[in-house]
Amino acid sequence: MRVWFLRAQHLAWWVLGCLTLGIYLGTGGLWAVPAATGAGGGISGRTIVLDAGHGGIDPGAVGPGGVLEKDITLAIARELERLLSRAAVFVIMVRHGDYDLADSSEMQLLNRKRQDLERRVRIAEEAQADLYLSIHANYFPSPVWSGAQTFYYENQEASAALARAIQGELVRRLGPNTRTAKAGNYRVLRDTSMPAALVEVGFLSNPREAELLADPVYQKKVAEAIFAGLYRYFQEQP
Ligand SMILES: [Zn+2]
Repeated sequence: MRVWFLRAQHLAWWVLGCLTLGIYLGTGGLWAVPAATGAGGGISGRTIVLDAGHGGIDPGAVGPGGVLEKDITLAIARELERLLSRAAVFVIMVRHGDYDLADSSEMQLLNRKRQDLERRVRIAEEAQADLYLSIHANYFPSPVWSGAQTFYYENQEASAALARAIQGELVRRLGPNTRTAKAGNYRVLRDTSMPAALVEVGFLSNPREAELLADPVYQKKVAEAIFAGLYRYFQEQP
């Protein structure tokens, strides 16, 4: 009797858990993603390194009205950290605040940048992470270009699949956007040994997109799209 009761209670918690997750997925704009209760594969239990681009002395691109790339990348990374943690992913943030990873004594800007990037990669290598994801915002001298785009390092098939999965969700959820996943020679993609992608979340040189990227509601939508892409990638892995 007691055993039966405990089993029934356990089942009740499990059903409640599934329902809660279903409701969350239904209201959070993630309706197309199946609930993370299936066996095998999947995103739960993975280690993902989130690299919020730039920081500290390095603001990255500067948009109209003084919008800074380093603030946008951190805000989106934090949203993504929240979503991934809920899906039982172990998240390692390359930075939690407004700083870079170089030695404070290093005053030469190029050396600082090199040291900073080396350390971002080292965090992922030492953690033996399953995946590395870098978040940036784009800038171009002309204001007409817009749209998020995901990059991978050439000839890395797993990274290309990852970039395609993320790009597909970015286009579907934030479009219209005709951009596709593309090979790019970024140091953090070249030097990491695990599947890695870099998302340029949009163009700060486009006033309309810069305004969107500075909006917390849109930042959340971007994070949800990236999450959906990551989720899909791990579902599709053999
Ligand atoms: Zn950048």
